[in-house]
This record gives sequence, structure tokens and C-alpha cells, in this order.
Amino acid sequence: MPADSGEATAEGQEKGSTKDDVSPSPQPERSEGVGEGAGGVRLKMRLVHTVRETRQAVTEARAQGRSIGFVPTMGALHAGHLSLIEAARRRDGFVVVSIFVNPTQFGPQEDFAKYPRTLEADCALCREAGVDLVFAPPIEEMYPEGFATTVHVAGVTERMEGLFRPGHFDGVATVVCKLLGIVQPERAYFGQKDYQQLVVVRRMVADLNLPVEVVGCPTVREADGLAMSSRNRYLSAEERTVAPRLYQALRAGAEVLRRGGTGEEAVRRAQEVLVSEPRFRVQYVEAADPETLAPHPQAGRPAVLLAAAFLGETRLIDNLVVE
Ligand code: AMP
Repeated sequence: MPADSGEATAEGQEKGSTKDDVSPSPQPERSEGVGEGAGGVRLKMRLVHTVRETRQAVTEARAQGRSIGFVPTMGALHAGHLSLIEAARRRDGFVVVSIFVNPTQFGPQEDFAKYPRTLEADCALCREAGVDLVFAPPIEEMYPEGFATTVHVAGVTERMEGLFRPGHFDGVATVVCKLLGIVQPERAYFGQKDYQQLVVVRRMVADLNLPVEVVGCPTVREADGLAMSSRNRYLSAEERTVAPRLYQALRAGAEVLRRGGTGEEAVRRAQEVLVSEPRFRVQYVEAADPETLAPHPQAGRPAVLLAAAFLGETRLIDNLVVE
């Protein structure tokens, strides 16, 4: 491994100190990457593992007059994540990406253990995409002994993902709240791919008066329409060929809405398309108000269609907004 990419190793991640308040780490993988050139040239990317180093880097960037753009992720980065990074780069002077597979948002039967962890490749992508700082904390850094706080957003979490993944949004809200407190960005970028999550985060930020602008970014899809997801790599070759049916179902439902149909009619149409492929086990298809996620949007009003289904062992979600 070249010396200058030594920071992007899994080993580096394991080394992440849990002692947030000791003096800066002397390890080369953390102190690397300061200054590639003068005169406004973007500094080289750094990988850090502690809250302390993140805060320090962000404070320095802000002192240089750079605004902070933040993209929280669980890693296994793909073009969907990169589009958020791109959006952050367009608007902010210092881009922070977090990579943390957050255990508290996975249910006991879910895929936490097998979730792809590809830190080295992720860091290479981030570096290429012009990210300034990657924060990849070990679990103990985020949840040290004695951790006792949960952020619970009521209402918008109660249906759809919240119903099928009990506790999921408590885990999401808590970790996003923590990450926003650590990075303190001007803007945080989230994908519409996880539409309900975006609504939950907006609700939390408004309710807790968090000083951050939440920016929603469009879903990036494969050429055949499948929404990009880190979990797509679980699909077998055969499953992969039928996976775009989820998006096709949403499009069929959206067409009903565009023609003046009701949310219920749109949902029925989408379900028809989905069940025509017997390998799908549908969990929900719903139509909702795009801002509040209240059910039964009025015909002729904007709506979002949301769906979740298992394909084999892989759980897919997708959504489509109809203006
Ligand atoms: P994850 O790593 O799955 O937690 O996702 C991190 C962020 O990337 C979230 O805000 C997601 O909504 C967003 N994201 C994931 N997939 C896509 C996609 N296909 N298009 C746009 N954003 C995405």
C-alpha cells in the first residue's frame, strides 16, 4: 500500500482511540494529508476516527472561512452517496463524510453483522470525489460505556419503515443528532432514496432547533431504474434482473396519480405490478403527503409513493414523488 494512502485501512479504523480528550494523535495515518498546495487548493483528504480530531479539523476549516457540508453514510459507497458529496462540494468549502455502520438502527434479525464494510475503497472514492475529511469512528467512540440517551421522533416514524423495523428510526435519529453535534455543519445532505428518513431528520432538526440546513438530494438509479443501494450487492444475479420491478411498480402507481387517480388507486396499481413477480414479498406500498407523510393525499395534490419488499433475503425500499 502506498505510504500516502495508509490512512485508509481497516487497521486504521481499529486503532481509533476512544479517548476523545487526549492530545492529538501522533499516528501517521491521522496526521497525514495536511496541505497539498497553497492558494485555495483543496487540502488532501484526511481519515480520522475520533470525535476530537473531527471537531479540531472542522474548527480549523471554519477558521479559514470555509462552510461545512456533511454527508452521513454507513459506507459501501456508490454513485448515490457520491451525488450527495457532489452536492456538498458545490455549496460548501469543507466536506465531511462519516462512515459508521450504526448498530442501534438495525433490528436483532437484520443484517448488521453482514453489512458490507469497505473502508479502504470508500476512502479512495471519497478522496477522488474531493472530500476533505472522513470520520469513521469505532462503535465505542459513538456509544461509550454509560451511553443512555435516545432521540425519538414521534408521528412520522409510526408507519412504513417504522412499523416494519421497530426502533429503527430511534437509532437513526440518535446517531444523526450525535453526528450533527460532532460535525456542526452548515448543511447536511441526505438522499430521497430513504424518503421517510429524510422526513424524520427534518422533523428532528426543526423540533430541536438544530442549526443546520437539511438538503434532500434525488435518488440515483441504475440504468434499469433500480435505486442504488449498498444492499443491492446481496442480490443474486437472478434477483438482480427482477429487482427493477419495484421501481416499475411505483412508476405505474405514479401514472395513476398523474391521471388524477387517488392515492388508494395508485397503491392498488403498484401492488398489482409488484405481485406479478412472485419472488417479491411485499411489506408495504403507500401513498402519502410528501412533506408530512400523512396518508391518503388528496387526488390532484403532490404525493409520494413508498414501497418496501423482500427479494429473497434482501430488503429493498424505493419511492417516487409525484408533483
Ligand atoms: P446509507 O449509507 O445507506 O446510510 O446512506 C447514506 C446516505 O446516502 C443517505 O442519506 C441515503 O439516503 C443516501 N443514499 C443512499 N442511496 C442513495 C441513492 N441511490 N441515491 C441518492 N442518495 C442515496
